[in-house]
Amino acid sequence: MLTMKFGGTSVGDIERLGEVVSIVKLYLSRKPVVVASAMGGVTDMLLGMAQLAEQRQTQQVTRKIDTLREKHFQVITALVRSEDRRKALLLSQSQIFDELTSLCHGVSLLRELSVRSLDAIASFGEILSCMQIAAILNDSGISAQFVDARSLVRTDAHFGAAAVDFAATNKSIRKVLKPLVDANIVPVVTGFIGSTRDGLTTTLGRSGSDYTGSIVGAALGSEEIWIWTDVDGVMTADPRHVKGAIVLPEISYREAAEMSYFGAKVIHPKTMMPAIENNIPIRIKNTFNPSSPGTLISRTANSTERVVKNVTSIDNLGLVAIEGSGMVGVPGISARIFTALARVHVNVMMISQASSEHNVCVVIPQKDCAKAVKELRTEFEIDIARKIVDDIKLQGGVSIIAVVGEGMRGVPGIAGKTFSSIAEAGVNIVAIAQGSSELNISLVVNQEQVHKAVQAIHDAFRLA
Ligand code: ASP
Ligand code: MG
Repeated sequence: MLTMKFGGTSVGDIERLGEVVSIVKLYLSRKPVVVASAMGGVTDMLLGMAQLAEQRQTQQVTRKIDTLREKHFQVITALVRSEDRRKALLLSQSQIFDELTSLCHGVSLLRELSVRSLDAIASFGEILSCMQIAAILNDSGISAQFVDARSLVRTDAHFGAAAVDFAATNKSIRKVLKPLVDANIVPVVTGFIGSTRDGLTTTLGRSGSDYTGSIVGAALGSEEIWIWTDVDGVMTADPRHVKGAIVLPEISYREAAEMSYFGAKVIHPKTMMPAIENNIPIRIKNTFNPSSPGTLISRTANSTERVVKNVTSIDNLGLVAIEGSGMVGVPGISARIFTALARVHVNVMMISQASSEHNVCVVIPQKDCAKAVKELRTEFEIDIARKIVDDIKLQGGVSIIAVVGEGMRGVPGIAGKTFSSIAEAGVNIVAIAQGSSELNISLVVNQEQVHKAVQAIHDAFRLA
């Protein structure tokens, strides 16, 4: 049994949906369960529509609903050839659009858009998309059944990013989906949405369909969870910036989490959690190139001899340094730095402290630098006056480069090789950090030099 998740782009138009049918057909003997997103762009449209409804822009709401209806009806007309099936689907989708219209009308009347209403409105995208996928599959001779995940995924009432109640959810998934799979029927399950115990619609957060895929795959004990997307898999580096970047055949869960944290478009770490707990491998596959094996993400990462797997970078960051000879040996300085930053909701991407304790630097998003520096100056006002802290310095326009690989653990010389490759490329390193997991080495460079540095590291470790 396989769980296959198709994202918005993969179900985004007539041609792509045709490809979904071929893919499901190709793997039919492995008993696929399909989890799908809304058609690309639809969730954004629904959310926009909800805002317009709140502002009583009634005409614009109507226009948007018409556009959405047209978008879905075009697909149905093109891909569902059986007249009875087509008519039935057009009818049930018409009813859904009526429901959506009423909901938006309610929001307009009240001029109030709660997170709860927002989730209810956002849920329509996946419902429409999965209904049509099931119909298209049936039309192509594949027995399929639409399954509304609100009857499977039980969540709390944290609308917008609800937390899953796994005990209840796993039980429902097994109860509803297992019999379908056993009867050779392909369930087509809506990603992204769930419901509370009281039956209120919730969503799992943006891009939540991957999470649904992982939840379903884990509950059913799938052989693997396949995330279908538009790239061949996880690469050694961003191919737009690095010559010779290639697809990695295998990485570990930990490596995937680390890479995604550092900006690689892999998979959100939270998404992997159910799969990890049940030791189910996740495979990233390309709908544009289905025969390519993609990247397997699993517990082990040992199949390649690569010590370093991947080098990624994040741009548009600033480095804030808190310096002072009086800071040495004074407890609580770091705690105060982080508390101050948390107070103004600044996310710290990287921390580095020299063992002299003379200097602590934090790397944060560029857009947050001004407020971070202001808050830190206030926090350390007295310390600055007393010369315990000399200054809070800001260096903008920097990037973090992360070198990731489980094989680095316990292998000497990786850091050295990284740094010398950058030095040879003539790039200056501003700051360095290594987590004690030894899974990654992060360094900060000026943004203008980031591509040169990434290429140098990629070449040095012969990642290609
Ligand atoms: N349709 C939802 C979104 O756009 C969920 C998903 O695509 O994964 O966020
Ligand atoms: Mg999406």
